[in-house]
Amino acid sequence: MCLGRVCACVLLLSSCQWQEPWHDVQETRFLLGTLVSFTVYSNDEEKALAAIQQASAIMQSVEQSFTSFTDVDNSVQRFNHALAGEVITLTADVDGLLRQSLQIQQQSLGAFDPVLGALNQAWAFSEAKNQQKPLSADLIEQALNVSGVLQLQAVSGMKWTKNKNQTQLDFGAIAKGFAIDQGIQSLQTSGIEHAIINAGGDLRILGNHGDKAWKVAVRHPRLKQPLGWFDIEDDSSVVTSGDYERFFVYESKRYHHILNPKTGQPADKNMSVTVLTASATLADAWSTALFVLDVETGLKMVENMPDLEALWVDKHQVLHLSSGMKKMFFPSKAH
Ligand code: AMP
Ligand code: MG
Repeated sequence: MCLGRVCACVLLLSSCQWQEPWHDVQETRFLLGTLVSFTVYSNDEEKALAAIQQASAIMQSVEQSFTSFTDVDNSVQRFNHALAGEVITLTADVDGLLRQSLQIQQQSLGAFDPVLGALNQAWAFSEAKNQQKPLSADLIEQALNVSGVLQLQAVSGMKWTKNKNQTQLDFGAIAKGFAIDQGIQSLQTSGIEHAIINAGGDLRILGNHGDKAWKVAVRHPRLKQPLGWFDIEDDSSVVTSGDYERFFVYESKRYHHILNPKTGQPADKNMSVTVLTASATLADAWSTALFVLDVETGLKMVENMPDLEALWVDKHQVLHLSSGMKKMFFPSKAH
């Protein structure tokens, strides 16, 4: 009895004295069509791994709610397959992100548009084997006729309808950011204070890396070496849209997956745009919107948005930085 108590005290002491050192706990999963790496800076590996597991499950459920490709029965696909005038109830997360997307559509003067599904499908950049020839003017016109926010009607609450049978929602430019935000929120709920979720180069940071900031490199749209890097701490997201992600070259011209909703053609003002702001959802949507706009128009918008910074590599490969970005971005020596 007495010996038992001594043992219990010794055990208690040893568990109090021994502490795991702070280190990176890392896991990689295939989610959202890309490799997603989770890095948690922690002194409790078991807790970090359980938190990563939970966050990745939540990100997977976001993917299932928004995907318009696989044959999942979600509210986006029910809307996309519905006939004109049919009323479809979206789920709360889809309805919420649609409303946020419509706001960004207005703020970006139509450069970002969540109702481009038919146009995106016609170009087929998201298909495993996309076409290697540009779309004809006729097919672009047909797709534009059924695409765009004007084809969408809010009914009430989470109920929506559309004007044309072929009108389709597409959250490809914002859902990855939303999933990253949900993943970070889940890590926080699990008690994690320092982490990065990096989905194929688009990422959100939580806290810091010991006494150092997290270092984030930005990819150059044409060269192998990085364009430069940021030193960032606390809650920030970095998302890039680029013409190198999904593209083909036809008669020396590059055709890629970010489309100008006004012309129906791949946007031709920039090679890449990187956005830094707290929310990964906003960083994702705005990197796409700014990619479509010319630098001058986009820069004016960015300077009017508090806490959102951007950098552009324009079509001539010239680097442009918003005023706040100049203070936190370090270009590589070559630039
Ligand atoms: P991102 O790589 O985040 O710039 O998003 C590109 C994806 O968003 C494309 O693969 C399409 O699914 C969709 N998309 C293309 N152009 C636009 C646009 N102008 N506005 C909104 N979504 C778009
Ligand atoms: Mg985007």
